[in-house]
Amino acid sequence: MSLMEDDERLITGSAILSYHTCALQAWLTLRRFMPEQENPFLIVGRFIHKNSYQEKGEKEIELPGAKIDIIWKEGAVTIVGEIKKSSRSFQGAKLQLLFYLKLLSERSVKAVGRIMVPLEKKTLDIAWDEQNRYELDAVIDRLRKLADSEAPAPEWKSVCSKCGFSDFCWS
Ligand code: SF4
Repeated sequence: MSLMEDDERLITGSAILSYHTCALQAWLTLRRFMPEQENPFLIVGRFIHKNSYQEKGEKEIELPGAKIDIIWKEGAVTIVGEIKKSSRSFQGAKLQLLFYLKLLSERSVKAVGRIMVPLEKKTLDIAWDEQNRYELDAVIDRLRKLADSEAPAPEWKSVCSKCGFSDFCWS
């Protein structure tokens, strides 16, 4: 299932990442609500993005609905890196990277994803294989349905205290 032009305007890497955390966060992201930019957890995340792997490759490449953290070549292989604060977000980062790999593959660029956690010195490679394609397509399908729905009710969870939308949900 390829991304149509409308999908590229609607579905973004941020919405995919949010969906893994919270349906309401994804719904707000799909509608282009912005999280509180002075949220300290977002500030730390931006600092790590800016100051990690500076020598590695080209940073912050933009595609429709995607801002790739870093991209470089190892021999014949193109690597797309997603830099994270912690390995706790591996599953969301995996889906976000798969979305980038899909956008690239639809532009005839074959790439491998790499989740990079500089503070833990960890990396995890993500392949653009059939199982991962299927997993991503299922999430995109659910996001399309979510986009057509009313806002889900907020449900308190531990990430709410760090979420840039917490004022929206809980004030
Ligand atoms: S504060 Fe909690 S319920 Fe609200 S968007 Fe963030 S994670 Fe979701």
